[in-house]
Amino acid sequence: MTKFIFITGGVCSSLGKGIAASSLGCLLEHRGYTISLIKMDPYINIDPGTMSPYQHGEVYVTEDGAETDLDLGNYERYTSRNLSRLNSVTTGQIYSTVIEKERRGDYLGRTVQVIPHITNEIKRRITIIAENDDPDFLIVEIGGTVGDIEGIPFLEAIRQFRLDVGRENSLFIHVTLIPIVGAAQEPKTKPTQHSVSKLREIGIQPDIILCRTHEDLSKEMRGKISLFCNVEERAVIAAKDIKKTIYEVPVVLKEGGLDEIVLEKCGLEKKRIVFSDWEGMLERLFSAQEDVNIAVAGKYTELHDAYKSIFEALAHGGIENDVNIHIVKVKVENLRKDNLDESFRGIHGILIPGGFGERGIDGKVLAAEYARTRKVPLFGVCLGMQVMVIEFARNVLGYEDANSTEFDMDTEHPVISLMEEQNGVKNMGGTMRLGRQPALLKNDTKTYRAYGKERMSERHRHRYEFTNSFRAEMEQNGLLISATSPDGMLVESVEYEDHPWGIGVQFHPEFKSKPIRAHALFRDFIREGKLYRDRQNHAREGGLEKAQTSG
Ligand code: GLN
Repeated sequence: MTKFIFITGGVCSSLGKGIAASSLGCLLEHRGYTISLIKMDPYINIDPGTMSPYQHGEVYVTEDGAETDLDLGNYERYTSRNLSRLNSVTTGQIYSTVIEKERRGDYLGRTVQVIPHITNEIKRRITIIAENDDPDFLIVEIGGTVGDIEGIPFLEAIRQFRLDVGRENSLFIHVTLIPIVGAAQEPKTKPTQHSVSKLREIGIQPDIILCRTHEDLSKEMRGKISLFCNVEERAVIAAKDIKKTIYEVPVVLKEGGLDEIVLEKCGLEKKRIVFSDWEGMLERLFSAQEDVNIAVAGKYTELHDAYKSIFEALAHGGIENDVNIHIVKVKVENLRKDNLDESFRGIHGILIPGGFGERGIDGKVLAAEYARTRKVPLFGVCLGMQVMVIEFARNVLGYEDANSTEFDMDTEHPVISLMEEQNGVKNMGGTMRLGRQPALLKNDTKTYRAYGKERMSERHRHRYEFTNSFRAEMEQNGLLISATSPDGMLVESVEYEDHPWGIGVQFHPEFKSKPIRAHALFRDFIREGKLYRDRQNHAREGGLEKAQTSG
């Protein structure tokens, strides 16, 4: 029988419920249990696919091509699970299913209401995962904060769920914040008390409270929270701020005894934890002495979450190369020919991320040109690859107007275009290519060397493609096609022939990178960044020596 763990949040948003859920998953897996996770988002959008990254951060794509909340990325990075569209639920999806059923007449003339119809649909979505995957634990994270109007049906549904499956098979964990207030810098428990009382009003009594804190919780504070919130004292756990990386959180929670209490409350055996892979990864991360500076040349630079998986994958590449990664966010709209040197000073590798729309394209083209001509390691991801192709066509093939038809419908040199345009089809839908797609790598390329095999599969999220009629010309002039779809019809990656490491990929490798196993392309990109850094340092020292001897 699956045990259900529900995670709610109180006091304020951004407390790291997603990281807490992921970390618990990580700990339970390391104790030999199977897990699955669901994110329930109370917003009304069907999925975040159409939401602006400014609103929502990145859209995370699953193997089966669902456009989901970025917390699914955390779930996959901390655990061994590959999640699917079923693991991401929104109010929009729930309502649209219920309304469809209503239109079909499934409710036989009854009045359709939040309770029981909406709540039943929410419960059904939880049950599907339990039945399909049959995990030992199903961790269900409820988005938002207790007290949000939109969240009420979800809380009501999980309250009922406990009645359905029984106390011994379900657990409520509430994540709150202990703020530090006033001149005395005093930690305060009142907001936690209030948010728990709000939960209890709805009929949910948490079993465990995870308190985000700066410092350890004193015995006295723990006692106070326990008393006022009606939770055992040892189940009040401090989730202390981490020092260097969010990957410490599983260790912090383990020290707080979270996984043991969960197992105990679920009546399961406390199997020994085998945690050496995770701890080994942290040790490597902590002991790294050297730095590699990576510029991410994108347009959503103000918002860290917009390129979440990219930043994480770069960090993973750093772990495998024993270096600290310093990310420098370069806003592409500010790039001009005359400030490139200044903008990329001290940079050891440039990554151009994915994106949609024309804004910032010229700056991305300049960044690609800079990396190509100065031989700085370059990694183009999705739109980043398309930009590499456009830049190459403009500056090497000499087609000044070369472009993607996404940005210029009338260009004479549409080096990136919709497949339908390439096949002369009118009425172009331009449907998004989403999720896992297989590809074949070409021998003797750097891309192939990263994977070390001929066949691989990666996740996609794009409409536009490399235009096949330009293939031969590009390859003759030094832009190699290093991977294609198995039928050879779609270009999946390109690389510069005469360059230390310049690779563009049409897919999103960042979605498959994990802290304990960096994606091969990110691993190699950082390795090349490190080599580039060494060459630069060497050249600088050489220059100094020369200046000294000649002086
Ligand atoms: N806008 C481009 C396309 O649709 C690239 C998309 C992306 O970078 N995810 O093909």
